[in-house]
Amino acid sequence: MGWKPMAVRAAAWTLLGMFYAGMAAGAALAADGPAAVPAADSFPVATDARVGGDDAQTRFVMDFDRRIDLHVFTLADPYRVVVDIPQVRFALPPNAGQSGHGLVKAFRYGLVMAGGSRIVLDVSKPVRVDKAFTVDAADGAPARLVLDLAATDREDFLRKIAQDEKLVRAESRPARAPSPNIADSRPLVVLDPGHGGIDTGTKAPSGEAEKDIVLDFAERLRDRIEKSGKYRVLMTRTDDTFVPLADRVRIARNAGAALFVSIHADSLPRKEGDAQGATVYTLSETATDPAAARLAEEENRADVIAGVDLKTEPDDVAGILIDLAQRETKSFSVQFAHKLVGQMKEATRLHKQPIKSAGFRVLRAPDVPSVLVELGYVSNKQDLRSLLSNSWRDRTADAMAQAIDSYFATHVAGTRSSGAN
Ligand SMILES: [Zn+2]
Repeated sequence: MGWKPMAVRAAAWTLLGMFYAGMAAGAALAADGPAAVPAADSFPVATDARVGGDDAQTRFVMDFDRRIDLHVFTLADPYRVVVDIPQVRFALPPNAGQSGHGLVKAFRYGLVMAGGSRIVLDVSKPVRVDKAFTVDAADGAPARLVLDLAATDREDFLRKIAQDEKLVRAESRPARAPSPNIADSRPLVVLDPGHGGIDTGTKAPSGEAEKDIVLDFAERLRDRIEKSGKYRVLMTRTDDTFVPLADRVRIARNAGAALFVSIHADSLPRKEGDAQGATVYTLSETATDPAAARLAEEENRADVIAGVDLKTEPDDVAGILIDLAQRETKSFSVQFAHKLVGQMKEATRLHKQPIKSAGFRVLRAPDVPSVLVELGYVSNKQDLRSLLSNSWRDRTADAMAQAIDSYFATHVAGTRSSGAN
């Protein structure tokens, strides 16, 4: 049945959690349990990384100020090698990972959860991890993490993944989202700041990351929505950690959300010209135009970037009943998009076509009206100035909070109780 893939995928995250918990306990950092995380300045520091070799055999090395533990696994479609390590502070040269060598095309690194960092290597073809180990500092050389990769065929690559999956299949997943407060019947608004941790999102030419801009914005919006006292607000993340796309949807559904608002800041490749202004997106199988399709593809890559296994993406949606629910949800989503645009145009510049739709995975909850707001383009000078301005953020968050209030006033207030699914 349709839930099986979710169990497999969920198990992978559980194993990850156990891995980190084990490391924390092993390091005697957490006398009260695995939740304790050491102070920022006590994390190991990654200082450099390099890739050497050729298309048959490639070695990846990362330097650290002390020896750390590691857990390595591989993912297909696209081919990736993922290295989970305890939370570290990455102090690598600015362009580290942007290009590779031999079998490694590029690599990324960052936080995936409190206590856990990750390195994701994009590989050009199926590889076998021949060796994965860490060594102590010695003879003036720093402690190192070493991966030896060898080219292999797809069949061998997939067989190894299947073996790894067998190991974790028996595990179950811990609840990520807080349980809803059943006694509180106020509508629940879920705010979803895009990206986070290892996935930075778009980047301004001046260096600001989308993940930071949208988190700050979402916090301002949350404060405004909560101030009225009429709604509850839940954020899919409140710090710089990565949350898989399906988990964002699941957090909203499990908590009985009445509305889901994902917040992003787009960027346009220079060759495609200079777009500007805010856009509100709803879900559809066919995109409004090629630009919307490109954007959805870009946003849907978040899990690939963070090393999540796409083939075990849970199939939360099945059956005719859901299809019917979806039609109603879709209509609510579009109505809310219009409310948003109506209010936002008083506060900020909008894109020349401010309401669009495309196949965003994060908007796929069949029973929660959902929109994705691109606040503006970090690639556009004037938009970027707005995005980085406190007064613009406050003004625009005010407008969005008003739109949310107006949506509930005229539509579904009270008809969606918490925990309805
Ligand atoms: Zn984004």
